[in-house]
Amino acid sequence: SDPNQGYDVVILGSGSAGYACALRASQLDLSVAIIEKDKLGGTCLHTGCIPTKALLHAGEVADSAREAAEFGVQAELTGIDMAGVNKYKDGVVAKLYKGLQGMFKANKAITIISGTGKLTGPNTVDVDGQQITGRHIVLATGSYSKTLPGLDIDGTKVITSEHALKLDKLPGSAIILGGGVIGVEFASAWKSLGVDVTIVEALPRLVPAEDADSSKMLERAFRKRGIAFKTGKPFETVKTTANGVALTISGGETLEADLLLVAVGRGPSTAGLGYEEQGINMDRGFVLTNEHLQTNVPGVYAIGDIVPGVQLAHRGFGHGIFVAEHIGGLNPTPIDEAGIPRVTYTEPEVASVGLNEDKAREKYGDDAVKTYNYNLAGNGKSNILKTQGFVKLVSVKDGPVVGVHMVGSRMGEQIGEGQLIYNWEAFPSDVAQLIHMHPTQNEALGEAHLALAGKPLHAH
Ligand code: FAD
Repeated sequence: SDPNQGYDVVILGSGSAGYACALRASQLDLSVAIIEKDKLGGTCLHTGCIPTKALLHAGEVADSAREAAEFGVQAELTGIDMAGVNKYKDGVVAKLYKGLQGMFKANKAITIISGTGKLTGPNTVDVDGQQITGRHIVLATGSYSKTLPGLDIDGTKVITSEHALKLDKLPGSAIILGGGVIGVEFASAWKSLGVDVTIVEALPRLVPAEDADSSKMLERAFRKRGIAFKTGKPFETVKTTANGVALTISGGETLEADLLLVAVGRGPSTAGLGYEEQGINMDRGFVLTNEHLQTNVPGVYAIGDIVPGVQLAHRGFGHGIFVAEHIGGLNPTPIDEAGIPRVTYTEPEVASVGLNEDKAREKYGDDAVKTYNYNLAGNGKSNILKTQGFVKLVSVKDGPVVGVHMVGSRMGEQIGEGQLIYNWEAFPSDVAQLIHMHPTQNEALGEAHLALAGKPLHAH
């Protein structure tokens, strides 16, 4: 369509959700404008998934050097050169950023508009005074690091994940407030890079959104790695001191460290963007949608982290593709959010899809749920890698598998099969029919299904 008459789709925000929507919409011959105030690619690429995973990988390399003797290899860890780690991390981000920019430049159906956008009508976004109109508006403004009352983020001693990714020098010791995904990932990476880490979590366990057995397994591994954690302990006060920070937790204990990383979740970036003024239904800052990701205002959609649910980049990609196809008239099937796999990239990794045991018991009733835990101690490849963990299946008796949970080094790479099992509503006997490769960690998934189907091989 003629841009002067308005675009087919105007997308506010170019993070995982927004840019995926733009690319898919352009494939469907829709004219697209995407508005970005910062960098194309958003949180995941610049300050989220990618740099944190690079940091974790650098830590894994350090651990390999530390543990080399266990494998009969003579190597010695003589130090961590943080400038070198940052160069590697920033290099990965820069390369992927360049690739993304190249893709958008080559795509003539997409117009990138730099500036801060504000919704001013059901078909209009104001970008620094310029009115951009579209038949459809897609809100994709993402999320920000939340803080709590009593916490003064100063960017040096009390920091968020954005600051944490820019440190020239790692602290000797750190307290991480929050034992959710972001908190435990930094704890894992920093410990591997030589930082003395303590996690403080208000809820009774680490990664509280995961299955209770996964939390237990991660906690056991962290204890073994010397990562301290205090669970069930809301913080009470934080003070900066001459050398760092002092944090008092419930019960009166005071912890001291060089710095405090605040990782208490991500809030939706929706304030002051005109959403309420345009009458969009919101809940605590999140944008409410129907199953087609449409808001209550006709023509306006919302995708990614601003929509209630798990805040993950691949969910954003999925939302973006879905909405582009919905606008393009392809009538896509609504997304089952429980079927989106979740991975926490700690050492060991925690991965899951579908329901955890508690939720399954709530939904189907105690008697209708069957679970099976396959310990990686029985898996050949896990012994070779010297990793510990498990594969846990949650199934409905005489019915499909409704949850797959895994803990172990790199088990995040295995949850893709769990995703198929869950989304295709496979029965344990269906999966037991498939022959899994030996020796791989993936085999553990096969073994667990064999056992649940009543014919265990290397298990009982
Ligand atoms: P964002 O990526 O936040 O993008 C929103 C964009 O909108 C931004 O570019 C912003 O500048 C722009 N914007 C906002 N307001 C305006 C405005 N008014 N005008 C113009 N532009 C605007 N997810 C995973 O799946 N795997 C991981 O390993 C992972 N690791 C993470 C690690 C960390 C430390 C963090 C913080 C997040 C991590 N995530 C991970 C989550 C992931 O980054 C988010 O789920 C994802 O980025 C959400 O995409 P989005 O498009 O909704 O929002």
